[in-house]
Amino acid sequence: MLAQPNSGAPLIDGFAFAEAGKSLRGLCRVHDFARLRGLVSSDEGELMYEVAGTRDEVGRPALGLKITGTLQLTCQRCLKALPFPLQVEAVLALAESEAEIETRPVVPDEPDWIVGSREMAVGTLLEDEILLAIPFAPRHERCSGDPALKGEGQASPFADLRGLLNRGGRATN
Ligand SMILES: [Zn+2]
Repeated sequence: MLAQPNSGAPLIDGFAFAEAGKSLRGLCRVHDFARLRGLVSSDEGELMYEVAGTRDEVGRPALGLKITGTLQLTCQRCLKALPFPLQVEAVLALAESEAEIETRPVVPDEPDWIVGSREMAVGTLLEDEILLAIPFAPRHERCSGDPALKGEGQASPFADLRGLLNRGGRATN
């Protein structure tokens, strides 16, 4: 299934855009990202993005992406809304083909590779990077409003000792 391009973000000719050092910026609605929508507690709001044509360290055409804004995630501990400040900066090097990417060794500090084309959906590029930036199990630093969790915070001084005893018990069995 093809990802639905974000209606707020245009198509660009990847290589021409990179070669010419073009840039564009805009706003996109969280609601328009179909995959992201399933991961947020509210799809209200907009994200700011910037795409800049550039070159990577060895001069290959690349796209620099910046995305900022706030996403409403769900805390995996108390299941309440968790505002997540999004701050994405990525450089994507453009390859001519999937085969070209596959023949390249994976180098940790290198930019990610994507297949460039004459019609690249900026919305899809943005959404991929946003999905990579979201924590797998987001949690408040301190959850509030749940009495059970407050109790958990004031742990019994014996809790650790009990844990140790239990472990000891299992070890001798
Ligand atoms: Zn929480």
